[in-house]
Amino acid sequence: MFPDINHIRLDRLGNLNGSKIAMSVLRTDLIHPIISGNKWFKLRFYLEEAVKQGYKTIGSFGGAYSNHIVALAAAANLNGLASVGIIRGEADDSPTLQEAREWGMKIIPVSRQSFKVREEIIESYPNHHEIYWVDEGGYGMQGAKGAATILSAKDCNEFTHILCACGTGTMAAGLIMGAAEYQKIIGISVLKNNTALEDSIAGLLPETLHNKITCLHDYHFGGYAKHPKELIAYMNDFYQRTQIPTDIVYTSKLFYTAEELIPKGYFEENANLLLIHSGGLQGNRSLSKNTLCF
Ligand SMILES: *Cc1c(COP(=O)(O)O)cnc(C)c1O
Repeated sequence: MFPDINHIRLDRLGNLNGSKIAMSVLRTDLIHPIISGNKWFKLRFYLEEAVKQGYKTIGSFGGAYSNHIVALAAAANLNGLASVGIIRGEADDSPTLQEAREWGMKIIPVSRQSFKVREEIIESYPNHHEIYWVDEGGYGMQGAKGAATILSAKDCNEFTHILCACGTGTMAAGLIMGAAEYQKIIGISVLKNNTALEDSIAGLLPETLHNKITCLHDYHFGGYAKHPKELIAYMNDFYQRTQIPTDIVYTSKLFYTAEELIPKGYFEENANLLLIHSGGLQGNRSLSKNTLCF
């Protein structure tokens, strides 16, 4: 099965919990069960550029459970390119990496220490000039431009607020670029103390759009990929109420935040919220069985 953006749906949840504020979800997770969500959008222009410039191989960086790595493996394959994944740590053979290998990616584990020094890894790689390198998580201008097209998947003009989860902030930057002037973008950081997030987003935007950056930093649940019982309980409860599955790293924290902010009066009355379901469900495979009810 190939990833397909025509599978994206707009789910209208109406007014959850009797609040005045309506919530809808843009289901980019439906692109594909494994290769899903925002990564597909973030990669499209990198791939286009790599092909146009005559590269035969595309390479990038990530952890053993990286949504970015597996999406890149598939996207490269479908575009007729070979791929290389530089993986942080003693790459335990995660389902994510197995999947990436099945799409033809060459997996190269490097120590946590040397993973930090990208230039050295790249330079020590044979024929590194023949590889089109993409930053970890797809951070960069082409990534943001690709993410801007998420809002063209469906007609999103009616929404007053667009909320998304943030790792590198590339998707948030893209949404700011792609949104209408009256729409407010709110990014929820899934990392603890990522004080550089606003600057990372600003770095991808023209100065005229810097005033549109809003990030919330208090909903990381302990940090990247941390998923305390409270979050797991929320994911199960949210699924039972909406039939929408969420992932432990990103989207669960996004939905939780929105539902937490609504009764606190964070949004003005008659706000109409769009939450971006950015995918990432494949990451839930790292949980033990029966943790989640979906
Ligand atoms: C990578 C990812 C994000 C974060 O995207 P950034 O552009 O790095 O901020 C959000 N949600 C999911 C499911 C992801 O895989």
